Amino acid sequence: MRTLNDLPDLRGKRVILRCDLNVPIEDGEISDDGRIRASLPTINYLTERGAKVIIISHLGRPDGKPEAKYSLEPVARRLSQLLGNSVEFVPETVGDKANKSVSMLDEGNILVLENLRFNPGETAKDSEARELFAGKLAELGDYFVSDGFGVVHRKQASVYELAKKLPAAAGLLIEAELKVLRRLVNDPERPYVVVLGGSKVSDKLGVIEHLLPKVDSILIGGGMLFTFLAALGHKVGASLLEQDQIETVTGYLAKAKELGVEIVLPVDIVMAAKFDAASEIAIAKANALEETEFGSTGLGLDIGPESAALFASIIEKARTVFWNGPMGVFEMAKFAEGTRVVANALTKVSGLSVVGGGDSAAAVRQLDFKDDQFGHISTGGGASLEYLEGKEMPGLEVLQ
Ligand code: ADP
Ligand code: MG
Repeated sequence: MRTLNDLPDLRGKRVILRCDLNVPIEDGEISDDGRIRASLPTINYLTERGAKVIIISHLGRPDGKPEAKYSLEPVARRLSQLLGNSVEFVPETVGDKANKSVSMLDEGNILVLENLRFNPGETAKDSEARELFAGKLAELGDYFVSDGFGVVHRKQASVYELAKKLPAAAGLLIEAELKVLRRLVNDPERPYVVVLGGSKVSDKLGVIEHLLPKVDSILIGGGMLFTFLAALGHKVGASLLEQDQIETVTGYLAKAKELGVEIVLPVDIVMAAKFDAASEIAIAKANALEETEFGSTGLGLDIGPESAALFASIIEKARTVFWNGPMGVFEMAKFAEGTRVVANALTKVSGLSVVGGGDSAAAVRQLDFKDDQFGHISTGGGASLEYLEGKEMPGLEVLQ
């Protein structure tokens, strides 16, 4: 893979830097700036060598058009604070304003362009539309540096097509992420435990199949656990459920048995009357979720205390742990306990512990854990999972 060493003579060069600055923002406030901080080493590397740095990123999932709540302006402001340096924000991605601002840059200056996904070409299915948008972006720079690890598994204009249009290299964050993930793939110390949760159920169910032959245990929490309970014939009330995945999940359970790998499901669940921070709650046995006072309208929003203790005991004995996806709706204190107990268990692992995913990283910080209590906090959830699966990653392939 080409790295920063492969870009000769950065002084005075316009370098387009793709970061993943997709941070959680609540009521206009950045609640976890981990991804911004993770981007600093490459930014500093470039400015110290006299490059003109043009930062591009996405934020959230706007629908190919501008939407104020997804503006990168607050991110540019935070970046400026963290760098102790002025950072210009340009309220468009490509066009006259962007051209003009770029042309005014001096050596060592930094600007942030508006959210890439305000442009339909960024995530277009049609490769010509992506090519077209990438072509416009390429006009702004002399070099391209790819450092948005969280998006390297996506074939998107600023990740893939753009890298083909300019001399391109991976940044320091991507290098650092890969160094850790390689240790998880190449002969990991055993027991090797993977913990999965979160809400992107169908995205994450698929990885189980790939991980089964490689790991000793998979612990299932978060939204996907209900599809497993349903596969075992249990009712799940109004909890998150992917009906059309039940058969697939049944297959995973059978395959796990065959391989001698344990898939560990929660034994109890925190049920809520409604999706609300102030909701009434009840602890239910995992095989009797509808037997609370909420009946079939109750929804499971966290793993229960017995399950959390069970998961912790398995994690603490492991020598390698990878965790992606909060165990429950940690944004509400009532449903954060499972995630807290699992996070705490990871801090006690004597081998390598890795936390991956934007929300998972935000969760451990919100729960007051420190980054250095873990072996590594990855900025990418989907990307790190796909790496572990051994899938081709367009954003990395293109840098070979
Ligand atoms: P990551 O960003 O770490 O990859 P995801 O984006 O997949 O994680 O999922 C994070 C989200 O999952 C959180 O916002 C959390 O509220 C949600 N979540 C966790 N458990 C549940 C559940 N039981 N029901 C609904 N949402 C859940
Ligand atoms: Mg997420």
